[in-house]
Amino acid sequence: MGAQKRNSKYSHIDTSKFVCLNKDCKAYIVEGKGNIVFAHYDGKNKDIMYVRCTICGRKFSENKGTLFYHKKIGRKKSMQMLHCISEGMGIQATARVFGVNKNTVVSLVKAGGKHCEMVEKKR
Ligand SMILES: [Zn+2]
Repeated sequence: MGAQKRNSKYSHIDTSKFVCLNKDCKAYIVEGKGNIVFAHYDGKNKDIMYVRCTICGRKFSENKGTLFYHKKIGRKKSMQMLHCISEGMGIQATARVFGVNKNTVVSLVKAGGKHCEMVEKKR
């Protein structure tokens, strides 16, 4: 009963949107194979989800392959900052509003551009 309870705590988590990001895996970036399962939570606040590929056994952070990987500013703030940029706010202005270094904004915009390229290529 105990084990069942533990599992049901995470049973609502939808991992179907994730793909394997291991280039050597035969399910690399293949969608809808059902090979990605919930692994655990980690990070400073235990708020970063890790998923595991059942084919190659590799674990990934939910942020891997996204803009938010290794970005300490967080998902919400990143999105807000990108929104400001896309609405025509300057790099300097965005940095001042969000109280971050302008290099942080530059690297976020660069990562955003790279991510768009990757998404476009996949189509
Ligand atoms: Zn895999």
